[in-house]
Amino acid sequence: MKTVCTVEEIRDYVHTVKAAGKTVAFVPTMGNLHEGHLTLVTKAQSLADVVIVSIYVNQMQFGPNEDFDSYPRTMAQDEALLKELKVDRVFAPSTSIIYPEGPDNHTAIKVDALDGMHCGKSRPVFFTGIATVVTKLLNIVQPDMAVFGEKDFQQISIIRKMVKDLYIPVEIVGAPIARSETGLALSSRNNYLSADELEHATLLYKQLLKAKEAILIGNTGYDIIQHDALADLAEYGFRPDYFNIIRRSDLQPAAPDDKELIILAAVALGKTRLIDNLQIDL
Ligand code: AMP
Repeated sequence: MKTVCTVEEIRDYVHTVKAAGKTVAFVPTMGNLHEGHLTLVTKAQSLADVVIVSIYVNQMQFGPNEDFDSYPRTMAQDEALLKELKVDRVFAPSTSIIYPEGPDNHTAIKVDALDGMHCGKSRPVFFTGIATVVTKLLNIVQPDMAVFGEKDFQQISIIRKMVKDLYIPVEIVGAPIARSETGLALSSRNNYLSADELEHATLLYKQLLKAKEAILIGNTGYDIIQHDALADLAEYGFRPDYFNIIRRSDLQPAAPDDKELIILAAVALGKTRLIDNLQIDL
């Protein structure tokens, strides 16, 4: 495995690999890798001949009062994990490559139809930052496919629409949520949680399971289920942001005759923002 930092190096590599008739899968990350990221790598390896992982903490997706400065950066540890998995290349560009004139002076990609709801309501710059950096990374690397986690379901929905709308020639592949033994969705931000908070955080998943159970036995009072879930989460000591029962196809509120649903939820626990979701097929 080799880590490369420039556009020329990664493009040369991909060009050579493709010229030899091999396929390339790409896994974009912000580093501080955990088992969830590694499941994406394993999936990528099962689908393509060569796997490239990028590590870049993208300032453009962080709001002014968010955790860009304190976001965990663990490059050496990440490289060791990826080497163990026999990843082919790590692409670790600097900000001077990604945003030569700074993140505030840059062409932005905005997916209006999907970015104003759910997480986008409380994080107004988040999805524009993600859509922009993912477009850049896809244009730089030019993989055959790119793998994203369904943990960030609104993110992968936005990326799928963006790729379709802009005719970006790449296949977007989703990978299921990796959870700890207690059910907590793995996340780099779980590092911010104290031991007590880590235990407490699993109540978010339990709340999703409770709502899913109600829906599976035929309860279509989605507004009431949402309302009750928000009240329960607040009682458990979370500061709930949203708990929304929606359609997977367009992220709009689910109607009683919709069949492919997902519950998206976000809460704060202490200083940490947690998101999770659960898909439901009726
Ligand atoms: P991040 O480093 O947080 O930007 O995440 C990089 C990729 O890993 C994204 O596609 C995430 O959706 C995915 N990811 C993060 N956590 C998980 C998880 N627990 N299960 C599956 N995928 C995940």
